[in-house]
Amino acid sequence: METAALHAELGAGLPPGLRAAVSLADFTTWKVGGAAQWFCEPEGNDQVIGLARWARHQGLSLQVIGAGSNLLISDQGLAGLTLCQRRLQGSQLDGATGLIEAQAGEPIPTLARRAARAGLGGLEWAVGIPGTVGGAVVMNAGAQGGCTSEWLEDVTVFDPNGDGEPFVLASRDLAFAYRHSRLQQEPLVVLSARFRLRAGLDPAAVGQRTSANLRSRTSSQPYQQPSCGSVFRNPEPHKAGQLIEALGLKGLSVGGAAVSTLHANFIVNTGAARASDMNQLIALVQERVRQAHAIELHPEVQRLGRFAEPA
Ligand SMILES: Cc1cc2nc3c(=O)[nH]c(=O)nc-3n(C[C@H](O)[C@H](O)[C@H](O)COP(=O)(O)OP(=O)(O)OC[C@H]3O[C@@H](n4cnc5c(N)ncnc54)[C@H](O)[C@@H]3O)c2cc1C
Repeated sequence: METAALHAELGAGLPPGLRAAVSLADFTTWKVGGAAQWFCEPEGNDQVIGLARWARHQGLSLQVIGAGSNLLISDQGLAGLTLCQRRLQGSQLDGATGLIEAQAGEPIPTLARRAARAGLGGLEWAVGIPGTVGGAVVMNAGAQGGCTSEWLEDVTVFDPNGDGEPFVLASRDLAFAYRHSRLQQEPLVVLSARFRLRAGLDPAAVGQRTSANLRSRTSSQPYQQPSCGSVFRNPEPHKAGQLIEALGLKGLSVGGAAVSTLHANFIVNTGAARASDMNQLIALVQERVRQAHAIELHPEVQRLGRFAEPA
């Protein structure tokens, strides 16, 4: 149903917190993207499940996002309901067993710092990844030799197309691979995750390793400009950034999108980029690498919404 018609029909009966026509550029680290037809930042899991049920009842599609740090959202925006999980924060740590339970919206850097303070080792690599726990599980986020699947015990999810009851999936059932999980293909919503870390370590030593990881990243990657981190998966055994840099593509731009001069696998928003600029620059870089090396670069960034096919 069209937004205006739904407003007229439901009036005051809209679920609490639901907003219409919200710009999603404000909810992505690339700062591009059009508006969500309907948008909400739920504050509890019951609200997430209730809103998903409402969307299904209205015949609306459902899209779940975390911190928007790995997303390219179309300039035309997203139809249906978009739920942003970033307010679903909180975590419990057990210093003795190393077990951590975290809500889907908990920032992964916050979790890494809390784990270090409790003398729990394993998440030192996660400190520079500006995403949520839910996004890290879906993407199998990783850096500096570590990744989410190594430390994940299980996730609590629900199926918005099913009975809506939350259930637990063990880590081994998530088909994890390099920057991949089965959750990228299935519309399951992550509510929380449990990690098992190494317990009984010296908090100061874990903290130092965590801080060193952050320093090494901020000195080699463009953290001061809007980006989505690495745009392309590494085509093993090659590094995408090295292939792009060797072709002299640092600084290449389309509109407000430019290949970073600091790290060639980053595309930055130089001020007024549109999602279509990002999309065209991604296609241009892919084309140059394909022509030079016959290697296909696959984007790590997730596209949401409609994009024109490259000419
Ligand atoms: C400066 C910078 C550095 C980065 N460095 C790294 C890095 O070193 N390593 C790395 O792996 N990534 C890196 N990234 C990319 C990004 O931070 C990770 O992929 C992160 O895990 C995405 O989390 P998110 O919460 O932002 O997810 P989003 O970008 O919001 O979403 C990513 C995907 O997960 C889905 N999703 C999110 N939350 C849920 C949920 N609760 N339930 C179901 N689906 C959900 C979305 O639908 C989407 O498909 C970097 C990004 C930036 C901006």
